[in-house]
Amino acid sequence: MRTANSKIALVAGGSGFIGSHLVDALLAEGATVVCLDSFTTGRPGNLRHLHGESRFDFVEADVIDELPAAVSRRRFSHVYNLACAASPPHYQMDPEHTMLTNVVGTRNLLRLAEEKGARFLLTSTSEVYGDPEQHPQTESYRGWVNCTGPRACYDEGKRAAETLAFDFQRLRRADVRVARLFNTYGPRMRPDDGRVVSNVICQALAGEDVTIYGDGSQTRSFCYVSDLVDGLMRLMASDVRDGPVNLGNPVELTVSDLAERVLRMTGSRSRISYRPLPIDDPRRRRPDIGRAKALLGWEPKVTLQQGLEATAAWFAQERDSAEPVDAEGESEAAEARRLSLGVAAE
Ligand code: UDP
Repeated sequence: MRTANSKIALVAGGSGFIGSHLVDALLAEGATVVCLDSFTTGRPGNLRHLHGESRFDFVEADVIDELPAAVSRRRFSHVYNLACAASPPHYQMDPEHTMLTNVVGTRNLLRLAEEKGARFLLTSTSEVYGDPEQHPQTESYRGWVNCTGPRACYDEGKRAAETLAFDFQRLRRADVRVARLFNTYGPRMRPDDGRVVSNVICQALAGEDVTIYGDGSQTRSFCYVSDLVDGLMRLMASDVRDGPVNLGNPVELTVSDLAERVLRMTGSRSRISYRPLPIDDPRRRRPDIGRAKALLGWEPKVTLQQGLEATAAWFAQERDSAEPVDAEGESEAAEARRLSLGVAAE
């Protein structure tokens, strides 16, 4: 890791899949990092390798509650908000909490940024486009979201979070950046995440039926996590404060294509099992990344093949390691408590 710099970043949701990769990248760049997480879907194991890192600290708390003194008393130059369950089965498990995480949680973190004079980055989502009528989706497209459906707690929650962010911007209360993340995948996804990449890879590795919802003709565009994190860091460092920026990989494929690709790649004999299509499942999704290219000089570099191979290799390794108690005989809860006593890092 590089020598320390003056950047002190708060990463809310830093023990999650994307958050933990962002924490690693910020530390590698020389920043001091405080991670705030409630472990609703994040996992202590994602930060295990940071035990003893002097520029890293961990605070266990929920962003919808008053921020603990361990956060509110510190100085921050940057606040990243990645705190929210992001997989449909997870964010629908407690929809009220999902909505509040996005609205109250984002408000709490924006107020923190205001008080500290810190730059703030919100991770919003392609879900703000709903089941899109425009294809590919540009940032100017206002979306087609069902505000009473089962996905609304997340979609509308993120839309409200964007509203709050840009209100703080307009009123000069905080210096705000907003990224709209499209489907992202890679190591450290939960095996029980419930999304298509993790499901299909885990099913293929276990020789279980691969589940395809609907007829598999719906499309998505999948971005590898290292590319996504690079985009987030470029956006935070940029002057792009006049609107959201799509971050995603524009290579689009059907869910059936993805499943077949994974089956071929893993040499699995799993069969395909068709299940009902979830309500309000978007028919197609693909980012227009013209804005990110022009303003951030960003575009994804990792091909789908490379990314899927790395992800499958990681899941295979995870399968071989013991769970739910890890190799050192420590439960996730005990490990979380140990993280919370992390090394003070200012
Ligand atoms: N999907 C699927 N099988 C699964 C999980 C998901 O066919 O085991 C489908 C899902 O219905 C959707 C697409 O794959 O059409 C992507 O779903 P995911 O949950 O990964 O992301 P999102 O719907 O949020 O884009």
